[in-house]
Amino acid sequence: MTLHLYDTWSRELREFKPLQPGMVSLYACGPTVYDYAHIGNLRTYLFEDVLRRVLEFNGYRVKHVVNITDVGHLVSDADSGEDKMLAGARRTGMTAWEIAELYTQAFKQDLQHLHIEEPHIWCRATDHIPEQIKAIEQIEAGGFAYRTSDGIYFDTSKLSDYGHMARLDIEGLKEGARVDKGEKRLPTDFALWKFSPQDQQRQMEWDSPWGRGFPGWHIECSAMSARYLGELFDIHCGGQDHIPVHHTNEIAQAQACYGTRLANYWLHGYFLQLDDAKMAKSSGEFLRIASLIERGYDPMAYRLLCLTAHYRSNLNFSWEGLDAAATALERLRRASHDWGAPTTADAAYLQRFLACVNDDLNTARALALTWELVHSELSPGSKKATLLRFDEVFGLGLEQWQPTAVVIPENAQRLLAERETARREKRWQDADRLRAEVRALGFEIEDTAAGAQLKKG
Ligand code: AMP
Ligand code: ZN
Repeated sequence: MTLHLYDTWSRELREFKPLQPGMVSLYACGPTVYDYAHIGNLRTYLFEDVLRRVLEFNGYRVKHVVNITDVGHLVSDADSGEDKMLAGARRTGMTAWEIAELYTQAFKQDLQHLHIEEPHIWCRATDHIPEQIKAIEQIEAGGFAYRTSDGIYFDTSKLSDYGHMARLDIEGLKEGARVDKGEKRLPTDFALWKFSPQDQQRQMEWDSPWGRGFPGWHIECSAMSARYLGELFDIHCGGQDHIPVHHTNEIAQAQACYGTRLANYWLHGYFLQLDDAKMAKSSGEFLRIASLIERGYDPMAYRLLCLTAHYRSNLNFSWEGLDAAATALERLRRASHDWGAPTTADAAYLQRFLACVNDDLNTARALALTWELVHSELSPGSKKATLLRFDEVFGLGLEQWQPTAVVIPENAQRLLAERETARREKRWQDADRLRAEVRALGFEIEDTAAGAQLKKG
């Protein structure tokens, strides 16, 4: 079963064929570091992590690039409002540079908690201003840009298929809503470069051929992805909210600069919702990984929860759902631990697993298969070896997991030893009485292949 992925550009499942044999170039839009990431944002990075792991499971060598947006992302997608970084600086009393550093580190820690593999290349927008200026110059030279009093804008009327990926209704947009487009010629036009205000110095600003200012949000991703992966690379991904504006505009810029649609496949993760409303940084309950840890949850329970839903369906977050995932995680960990050392993975199960994940990353079905494996007649060693291969995609860290050592008081240990002696001597009544005494101390005796052990009752 070859890998098939749903491509938002063509709106269909397509067989995945890399541009270069054996290699995959993958770009994912990274965080805007003006605040912590919430668990909704992290669902998108989990989806991208699973994508990368599935590509690797298929034997591809992946080059994974993620950007850090530390300038230019305005509060409104219509190119108005404050830069989110400056708003964050005002909120916290720190400089924009300081909050960028703080939230970048916090984000990387979240990824670690969730076993999300680090990209091979992190790229910060503010480290790539020359690349962005060069791309804007190319766009301008091609006749795709115009100037207003507050910046340089992309002229979307110059592209006959602008908005194709999002299937935008351009005529409707022109006539419809009274969007405040300022000096923009069309509501879909967008900023490539914004000028610093005349009367004040911005915390983040640079000289350019057009005047002092800062780049628009979309140009960073076109310029940096092309810099690291080429003018047409394999896969570009992000959250579903990026389809109509951010990715549409990245594509427009790439068409103007390189004559490509930037990526051969465009993949989008759907949202995590809270009580059926979008979880946003600006509204609702702001749940972080740290919030889950504070409430006693293992971040792996959240990872497992996300694996239970297909990435192209919304996932409604609830504490009950997280509890269920935590219980399932515990069962899987215990089973895997109790199976002991791995022997040989079962070829038929591996084949079926590949069919699940290669069907547009169907982790929900792969998990159902996992429970089938747990209850199968395979030998413990073979189950273990098979599960550890599955976990290369699930990323639950099952191989490393150890039961937390329970501190067992001496009197319980002594009773256990006495019971063992009673059993050896076939004094069954004494053995039962000693088991009851152990239970009264809050422990259960478990008879395993390795002998009797105590666990918390
Ligand atoms: P931001 O830091 O706001 O630029 O967002 C980072 C990533 O999170 C983007 O790929 C968004 O599409 C994605 N995202 C934002 N909100 C959610 C949500 N509720 N569920 C899933 N992904 C989200
Ligand atoms: Zn982007």
